[in-house]
Amino acid sequence: MHKHFAKLLEKARNASGALDEAALDRLVMAELNSARREVALQNRRIATALDSTGHAISIYDRHQKLVYCNDKYLALYRLPKRLGRRGTSFEDILKGRIAANSHVGDDLEHYVSERVSLVDDGEPSTEVHTLNSGEIVSITHQPLTDGGWVSTHKDITEFSRLQAELGHRAYHDALTGLPNRHLLQQRIAECLAEAAGLGSFALLLIDLDGFKAINDTLGHGAGDQVLREVAMRLETTTGAAGMVARMGGDEFAVVMEIGATARDAQALALRLAEAGKRPFVIDGQPASIGFSIGVAVAPGDGSTGEQLLKNADLALYAEKHGRRGSYSFFEPSMDKARRDKRQLERDLGLALERGEFELYYQPILNLRTQAFSGFEALLRWHHRIEGSISPARFIPVAEETGLIVPIGEWVLREAIAEASKWPPKLRIAINVSSVQFQRGNVVATIMNALGASGLAPERVEIEITESVFFDNSTANLDALRQLHALGLKIALDDFGTGFSAMSYLLSYPFDKIKIDGSFVRALENAAGAQTIVRAIAEIGHGMGITTTAEGIETAAQLRNVHAAGYNEAQGFLIARPMPASQVRKMLDGEDDRMPFAPMVQRAAG
Ligand code: C2E
Ligand code: MG
Ligand code: MG
Repeated sequence: MHKHFAKLLEKARNASGALDEAALDRLVMAELNSARREVALQNRRIATALDSTGHAISIYDRHQKLVYCNDKYLALYRLPKRLGRRGTSFEDILKGRIAANSHVGDDLEHYVSERVSLVDDGEPSTEVHTLNSGEIVSITHQPLTDGGWVSTHKDITEFSRLQAELGHRAYHDALTGLPNRHLLQQRIAECLAEAAGLGSFALLLIDLDGFKAINDTLGHGAGDQVLREVAMRLETTTGAAGMVARMGGDEFAVVMEIGATARDAQALALRLAEAGKRPFVIDGQPASIGFSIGVAVAPGDGSTGEQLLKNADLALYAEKHGRRGSYSFFEPSMDKARRDKRQLERDLGLALERGEFELYYQPILNLRTQAFSGFEALLRWHHRIEGSISPARFIPVAEETGLIVPIGEWVLREAIAEASKWPPKLRIAINVSSVQFQRGNVVATIMNALGASGLAPERVEIEITESVFFDNSTANLDALRQLHALGLKIALDDFGTGFSAMSYLLSYPFDKIKIDGSFVRALENAAGAQTIVRAIAEIGHGMGITTTAEGIETAAQLRNVHAAGYNEAQGFLIARPMPASQVRKMLDGEDDRMPFAPMVQRAAG
């Protein structure tokens, strides 16, 4: 006998030990009620615990009858309360869901049999359903040992939407809505796989010309406007021919569909370039921008996405540094050109410590006194393999990389130190790049060099080009004024070759202008050259500025600039740039191979 029941029997006996049946009835009823309350409480506890997970929950038995479901379950599927009653069949629930538009499709039998087989597997499983109403639900089934199951339902609609959006964002550019670099790379990979060496397709990289100026002068808002407009033009122009993407910054790309040949790419590039030439209107203001385009055609120009991108980029680079505003196709020589440039950059970085630089000095002749007024220091690089490399080739690279700052400091120190050994009437002219003004401290370097050498500041001439004025901060002008205040002379070099030479003459009180050698060379054949050469001499004279004519190679040229009224002349005819040792020899009178005085006389005569 059950111990518990034995206890009840014991309690139900009267004093004489006889069983009081009525008392036993009462006791059993009380026990039963307390047990029921206990179970109800237990159920409530379980339901609360389940509810507290925040999920919709349903429990079915092996006859597919509802054992329990919480309010969230009814709410999720918009089921009437009555269906939440224990014992409701799974099928009735599903019918209710169809009625509430919260089912998946309208097939009951299939749904039920799938569920049953899932439960029969005995393993927990999860599936994601999109309800007829559009909500997305993730359902986890946990089979129970008695053949029933517990399901947990989560509404993941918001989560899925977010995930899709994040997915879109990871592959699209927020500003223009265009596919981004990642998606472009994927598309290229797809095309390569599809073409599989059989079909061709093309990659076009597009870089905006003049975008930086718009961003800098009109602000980032205007820049964004331009980028959106560009995106639109690229898309309308490309149409179904390919996918347009934004690579970042002001760089875009088009991957053309498989089957596109070099000729198709050329036709599209041409249309794109045309689209870039139409004026842009920003805040009612016209702005001009161009598209520079680099084209690579697969499989010839690359069998991997990386290679194709690199080669299109090389073509773009060539276009950017060439004519701009049009397109260039990749050519293998471009790769070599870039490797060469990289090598040059690396070697240039080591040239200072390797002591590969030397200064040459070219005399400047005073046409009135017929004596040298000084020398211009010209940098020479003795590359250990390539031999002598022209400054026209390495100075731009040094400026691009910033190496011009340490190199330029070396030039200033070296030239000033050398000039301090010359007779006091001779000046030293030193070329200083605009990048040195922007990134270096030219004034401090010069002051230190002057201090160390004892050279008088009046004997130093700084030659600048108009690019010093491009960066429209006043810092460069301030530096020039400081140098001028110290007593140095400031010369405007290569005068006439730039954009608005005249306006720069007014913006700073130069001591000297040097007319570019190209005008002097043009004297003999170009009709207008004579007029320009004379006009510049007159302007200089009128403003009280010394004028120097560069690049004098023939006696006729010398005669010409002398007649035009130039104060000074410089050129191979007078003397080529020479090493410091030769300058000293010449100054010591040891070298009399330069018969410049009679030459000038002949020219003047
Ligand atoms: P630049 O300052 O205008 O120098 C004059 C250039 O013309 C020099 O070329 C000189 O050798 C060359 N030249 C002189 N006479 C004649 C002539 O009769 N005919 C011809 N065809 N050319 C003549 P170089 O030395 O090759 O220098 C080229 C440019 O490189 C210079 O032009 C200057 O802008 C720059 N550069 C040279 N040295 C330095 C330097 O130390 N620092 C900086 N920042 N730039 C330098
Ligand atoms: Mg110069
Ligand atoms: Mg010059």
